This record gives sequence, structure tokens and C-alpha cells, in this order.
Amino acid sequence: VHTCGPNAQKYGSSIFKLTAAYKADTFADKVNLGVGAYRDDDNKPWVLPVIKKAKAILANDEALDHEYLPITGLPEFTSAAARLILSPDSVALKEGRVASVQTISGTGANHLGALFLSRFYEFNGEKQVFLSNPTWINHLAIFKNVGIAPIYYPYYDPKTIGLDFAGFVNSLRNAPKRSVFLLHACAHNPTGVDPTPEQWEQLADVILEQGHYAFFDCAYQGFASGDLDRDASAVRYFEQRGVPMLICQSFAKNAGLYGERIGALHVIGSTKAEADRVKSQLSVLQRSEISNPPSHGARLVSMILNDPQLFAEWQRDIKTMAQRIIDMRDRLFDILTNKLKTPGNWDHIVNQIGMFSFTGINAEQVNALIEKAHIYLTANGRISMAGLNSNNIDYFAENLDKAVR
Ligand code: PLP
Repeated sequence: VHTCGPNAQKYGSSIFKLTAAYKADTFADKVNLGVGAYRDDDNKPWVLPVIKKAKAILANDEALDHEYLPITGLPEFTSAAARLILSPDSVALKEGRVASVQTISGTGANHLGALFLSRFYEFNGEKQVFLSNPTWINHLAIFKNVGIAPIYYPYYDPKTIGLDFAGFVNSLRNAPKRSVFLLHACAHNPTGVDPTPEQWEQLADVILEQGHYAFFDCAYQGFASGDLDRDASAVRYFEQRGVPMLICQSFAKNAGLYGERIGALHVIGSTKAEADRVKSQLSVLQRSEISNPPSHGARLVSMILNDPQLFAEWQRDIKTMAQRIIDMRDRLFDILTNKLKTPGNWDHIVNQIGMFSFTGINAEQVNALIEKAHIYLTANGRISMAGLNSNNIDYFAENLDKAVR
């Protein structure tokens, strides 16, 4: 366990600087693999057909006004969002033990969750949160902002380009009792490395033994495997086991609503009375920060979640996105392994899940890709699968091959 520090990197410490360098590059075949949003096979942003339909319905609704939403958000949205992540069969939901609040996308859910814990969680000693090494870089600032110190637990093992499961479990065992552990629900960002279902079971065992608190960040439900239920399985399993937890939920990726900033925070209490008290405190915090959340994204997602036909259409759209990503993984693996016979083992390309993949290449090789081939990616060797398409995948594979030889 060690404290978190920023990674020095030539093309800027932020993804925004990398994007600026890509934009300034005039080379015709440049490739942006830093992008954190879905792109279709023509490298264009994709408005989901189901979202277009829902927008048209809203546009024709004469009764819609622009009044404020309640402080905790649109109730039809928050309740449907809770069922989506926890399942309609969730015992906690049936017992009324879930406090749900609409947030400014996943970032806002992380912030509100962190703020809530900083005020009300009984930390055992230091106010600290355990984050996977590495993690979504914004986690560090979000927790520091509310006075909670981020600490890393071992997660990614560069030697296997996979999960350091023993290190993870060790750190769960050695942390003070009742520590807060942030867990990526699925499609770990930035590595694409997730625990297996059996590993999640073992993690739940240790977390329960130690009385730890699970802070689930779920930014990719459905986007990872193409199946909303499958991507929620770790969260649902932890809920069934009775792990104390909260969940941050985002609709940026799975509904393509990045700029609409629609998400939710769900805090599970041990009783309905406790959940009611939590909701009331969340409401006080939300009031002082944003008064009340924006309505447009909430109305769109609520319509889709509450209408069986639109919901089925959304599931198809999600499959379209997830399948394109999975196809890119398969094709990249095939070109490297069978066509180019690139040195090294590339199994991780198909074993990792979600938008991101840790390639395992080093900072020098990353720089070679940027400078010689105009292929932009972060210094840690992470690529966004969404930046690959049928037009550039051969070009990328050939240059990756050159960089590692
Ligand atoms: N959490 C993780 C792990 C993410 O990767 C992201 C986005 O990249 C988010 C949260 C928050 O995204 P948003 O605020 O756009 O929902």
C-alpha cells in the first residue's frame, strides 16, 4: 500500500492535453486512442436510435414544462435506475432500504457519495479510501476534495497484464477494519481487467470478514458485455451477501448521454429507517451544492427505463456498441497473433473487457507510436477500443508491431 501521486507523462498528465495534441496534428491518417467516448465505425459520435426516438416524444409533449425537479431528482428516474442496477428482485429494494438520488452523471454520484461518507461514515482512524492501482484518475481529486485521503491497493499486475488478486486480497486483509474500498463494478478503467465471478465471491468473503465498506463505481453497465444484467452481477452479488455499500451509476456511456450529465447515487441502508435518514441527509447536501438536478437527461432515461418497448430497443443499441468493441478486440488480436506474428502474448486484448485496454507496452513505445505513427494514446499504454475501426485497425496493428520489435 502506498499513497497516490501523479504520473509524469510527456504528452500531459491529462487526457485533455492528449486530445489537444491529436487535434493539432495535420497528418491525414492520425489515430486517437485516448478518446473516452464511443465512436462508430466511421469514427463519429453515435446518438443512440432509442434516444432519438425518446427526444422526439419529449419534443412533442405540449404538457412538459421547465419547472425545477425535486432536490433528489425525478422520482420515476431514480426508482427505475435503482431497479436497473440492483434488479427488480433486489431484497434491499423490496425492503425499502435503498436511498437513491439523481446526480450530475457518474462524476456527481462519486462526489456526492464521497461527500456523504466524509460527513457521516465512522472511519476507523484516518479518513481514507482505498483505490485500485491504477484507477480512473478523477477518483483521486474527487476524494481529496472532500477531505478523504486516497490510498492505492494493488490491482493491476504488469507482469501478467492481469489482476494482482493476491495483492488485492492481502490489502483487504491488512487494511484497518471498516475501511472504504472503491470497486469498479465492471469494465475497470483504465485496465479493462475485472475479477472473475469466483474472485468476486472471495472478495466479498474478505470484505465481510473485515467489515469493509464497498464504494461501487458503475460507469459501464451494459457497455462492457452488451448485457445489462451480466455487467451488474458483482453489484447484485454484493447486495445479496449483505455487504455495506453504495453505488455510483452513470448513463453517459450506455445511453450515449455524455453531455446530458445524468446519473444516480444509491446508498443501501441496513433498515428502511436508516435509508430514509440517509436520503434526508443526501438531500441536504445536494441542496447546498446544486439545489436540484437537470431534467432533460432524467426524462429521456426515465422514459426508456419505464417503457418495455423502448427498453428492448435500448438493449439492442447497447449490444451494437458493445459488439463493435468486442469485434475490434478480436480483430486486433487476430492481426497481431496470426498475420503479423508480433512478438509477445496478446491474449489480454481479448480477455480484457469494456472500452479500454492496457496493451502492456512501455512509455518509450507509446512515444514511438505518437511521434512516428501519429497514433495518440496515454503513456501508461492504455488504448480506447472505441478509437479503432475498420479503416485504421490494420494501420494501428502494423505500427504497434513495429514499436514492440
Ligand atoms: N467512473 C469511471 C470509472 C469512469 O470511467 C467515468 C468516466 O469515464 C466516470 C466514473 C464518470 O463519467 P461521467 O461523469 O461522464 O458519468
